Amino acid sequence: MKEEIVIHWFRRDLRLIDNVALYHALTSGYKVLPLFIFDKNILDLLQDKEDRRVSFIYSTLEKLNAQLQKQGSGIWGEYGFPDLVWEKLIKIFTIKAVYTNHDYEPYARNRDESIQDFLHEKGIPFHSFKDQVIFEKQEIVKADGSPYTVFTPYKNKWMAQLQAFPISTYPSESLKANFLSIPSMSFPTLEEMGFIPNQDTVPGDNIPVEIIQKYAEQRDFPGISGTTRLSVHLRFGTLSIRQLVGIGKEYCQTWLNELIWREFYMMILWWFPRVTEHAFKPAYDRIPWKFNPDHLKAWQEGKTGYPLVDAGMRELKATGFMHNRVRMVVASFFTKHLLMDWRIGEAWFARHLLDFDLAANNGGWQWAASSGCDAVPYFRIFNPRLQAERFDPQNAYIQKWVPEWNTPDYPKPIVTHEVATRLAIETFKSALSSSS
Ligand SMILES: Cc1cc2nc3c(=O)[nH]c(=O)nc-3n(C[C@H](O)[C@H](O)[C@H](O)COP(=O)(O)OP(=O)(O)OC[C@H]3O[C@@H](n4cnc5c(N)ncnc54)[C@H](O)[C@@H]3O)c2cc1C
Repeated sequence: MKEEIVIHWFRRDLRLIDNVALYHALTSGYKVLPLFIFDKNILDLLQDKEDRRVSFIYSTLEKLNAQLQKQGSGIWGEYGFPDLVWEKLIKIFTIKAVYTNHDYEPYARNRDESIQDFLHEKGIPFHSFKDQVIFEKQEIVKADGSPYTVFTPYKNKWMAQLQAFPISTYPSESLKANFLSIPSMSFPTLEEMGFIPNQDTVPGDNIPVEIIQKYAEQRDFPGISGTTRLSVHLRFGTLSIRQLVGIGKEYCQTWLNELIWREFYMMILWWFPRVTEHAFKPAYDRIPWKFNPDHLKAWQEGKTGYPLVDAGMRELKATGFMHNRVRMVVASFFTKHLLMDWRIGEAWFARHLLDFDLAANNGGWQWAASSGCDAVPYFRIFNPRLQAERFDPQNAYIQKWVPEWNTPDYPKPIVTHEVATRLAIETFKSALSSSS
């Protein structure tokens, strides 16, 4: 007789504390099998063996596994294509229900729909919950039910809704006794999946309240620790958004606004999945981007001759992180000074960022390219030198990442600011005014 269980399927919610679907699974009356699938559909597309995200997920699962082992349980890890994994699992267990948390990315939505159909055919309910955001999908919309495409009114509605519906938390951690007993960790090594461990230091998950308190004054200066570095934990759900929003409310509205930007872009991606391939504003797909491999290489390697751009690009490659102000500057430089297609820059970020998130990255790139919703107007172009003077006045950030700056070894600018920005404005203007 096969054992009757329910399954909690972990994805972007890699924690035991305050996890909505896990809480519902643990109160279902059945023992819970904690499952993680190393999805070949995703892993097979990654270019780097030393991928930071894979290592982060792996070490997080090892930690979760150690916590679960104290209850005699553990993580059941599978490596494969999700449809085949589910076919295998229904042969091993009598699954009474599957619990998981919503994922709003196009691939994940399709995957979940087909797994749900498969399970329903077998008579197994698939319960999916809102967990990684406070408000999702159609929860914050205009009076006529259509989505907001401008941030400020969205934020105002979001804040009003937060007052109206106080956040509840889900004490999944207090229900540990309800996990299924399973033998020790049973998932493949990184090497068996074709990866090697990435040794970079990952920002910790302690919430730096003192940084949040000074956030409004310090957040724009890449040379100081003025932002929380929690993005990777929000990306993979190693921290709960409900806990963080509570802290934002208490200590700093400016910081809370950033968490609302995160939800804004997730909402945009859910309503407009075409943004992964196309400009949010269709006219911007008419811009005749240039492709210059030498410029691309100089940008990727941090050798453009613009020190703030170069510092950011080197920080990204070396650590998997880049400060937000600098992300804006390098993306603007790429799409305006170099007139290169935002999708190419977006893909480079997607490859290297530890906190890579499709919605935020796409939103950030389309913001910089002016093609996105509520984006910077195309004629207002950052001057990378002035940005450096303003936001890195002591050159602390530049000196850290570009030690040869101000020496003969430092490259000359690959484009001239005045010439490049004039060309960008002319190009945008003429493409946008031509009829489609
Ligand atoms: C071109 C570009 C690409 C970006 N790509 C990503 C990405 O792939 N993943 C990602 O998480 N963020 C992305 N961002 C947003 C932002 O740069 C990072 O979230 C931030 O730098 C992370 O640092 P932090 O954790 O110290 O943030 P904090 O300043 O402490 O902010 C707290 C949290 O709010 C969220 N957040 C902050 N700013 C934004 C924003 N503009 N949009 C959406 N969420 C935000 C993040 O989850 C962040 O951890 C991008 C921005 C730009 C301009």
